[in-house]
Amino acid sequence: MTVDRAVVIVGAGEAGVAAASAIRESGDHRRIVLISEEPHLPYERPPLSKEALTDETPALKTIRPAPWFKEQFIDLRLGWRVQFIDAARRSLVLETGGRADELFYDQLLLATGARVRTLTDAPTGVCYLRTHEDSVALRSRLSQAQRLLVIGGGVIGLEVASSARHMGKEVVVLDMAPRLMARALAPDVSNVITELHRDGGVDIRLNAGSIDLRQTPQGMRAILGDGTVYDGDLVAAGIGVIPNTELAAQAGCALENGILVDEAGQTSVPGIYAAGDAAAFPHPVFDRHVRVEAWQHARRHGAHVGRAMVGTPAPYSEVPWFWTDQHGVNVQVAGLAADCDRTLWRGAGPARTAFHFSGNRLVAATTLNNGRDMRPVTNLIAAGWQGDPQALLDASTPLGKLAARLLAEHTAATAAA
Ligand code: NAP
Repeated sequence: MTVDRAVVIVGAGEAGVAAASAIRESGDHRRIVLISEEPHLPYERPPLSKEALTDETPALKTIRPAPWFKEQFIDLRLGWRVQFIDAARRSLVLETGGRADELFYDQLLLATGARVRTLTDAPTGVCYLRTHEDSVALRSRLSQAQRLLVIGGGVIGLEVASSARHMGKEVVVLDMAPRLMARALAPDVSNVITELHRDGGVDIRLNAGSIDLRQTPQGMRAILGDGTVYDGDLVAAGIGVIPNTELAAQAGCALENGILVDEAGQTSVPGIYAAGDAAAFPHPVFDRHVRVEAWQHARRHGAHVGRAMVGTPAPYSEVPWFWTDQHGVNVQVAGLAADCDRTLWRGAGPARTAFHFSGNRLVAATTLNNGRDMRPVTNLIAAGWQGDPQALLDASTPLGKLAARLLAEHTAATAAA
């Protein structure tokens, strides 16, 4: 048993590591214990569905090099699983390979992330993608396969589809939803992505109804609700994730679409905080609690909560942002695109930007091979800019210049109101 007072962080993904780093940068010298169920040094997940599948010699991309944890006096517990939190005693029990330990904490951060949803009643052998091991297994199976069936037209399914096409495989994507990446993209952009995949040789089947998967002597068979049959020799599923909230629930933390936290990342239980994929936090721009499943958010929210834990709280108003690369096209999305009721495009070529509005308010934007528009448009979303959407479409003025002017006008009008 280890009896001392510490900051304990459960989960060593982007959020957990960023929080540990922020706590140290603030000059806090308490002991930090960072616990990871995975056996590897904390690593980045974005490459797992891209270069980790396609590169000749993929390498695990670590978030920090091994010596960093020692230099920062962070006690990194790899391969340990937290079993139980006793919030009244401010302690937790963790175990590895049959050995148990108990830690006492001043403050506890749950950066527990999310796990893949799995298909019910599916035969064994379906590949999922969340961890390094998943990626290694999919890579190996893909190298033996010729025809891949992808279940789920979300970002994982589409990145895997794109990588598999790059490797020369035949690919079919099956989704029950009426459009691709429906939770993350505006409808118009889903249509563009569908065309991109079809042009890239992917067979996209939307509105698939029920999907009955069966093992066959040759591989796998998917039978759709309307009787259509798709055969493949490998199935990869990306059907969403489930936030890991069980420890928080057991510790008595309030849950609502994840672990409910305030602007400082504090849960309903004193001394327990949460950050990253698992935490639902109040967003001042969107005026409600949101839970964001994205790499950049995990980093920034983790750092934010780490700073708040050492007594420097600040509002957290980062506009959600993610990127994906598919068939050589870089797609970036800022804001909550699913909230929009109207989309307007600036530009018509391969590099262009879509603005997504809810009424007259800019709630999100998407760039296609046009990342330089992201910063100015993100500033507008963060400011809650609303106005005549046509004002953004004047292609004769660079968006940076246009947005700076609109922002200044908006700020002046808000101050005067
Ligand atoms: P996702 O983006 O939520 O997409 C899952 C898709 O699968 C949705 O279209 C969903 O439709 C569909 N689906 C659900 N159940 C299904 C079923 N039984 N059969 C067929 N389709 C089904 O989740 P994901 O693609 O699995 O990604 C997992 C997580 O990784 C997400 O949090 C994502 O943000 C993250 N990620 C991010 C990036 C990036 O930022 N570039 C890359 C990879 C992964 P419904 O919406 O109708 O349920």
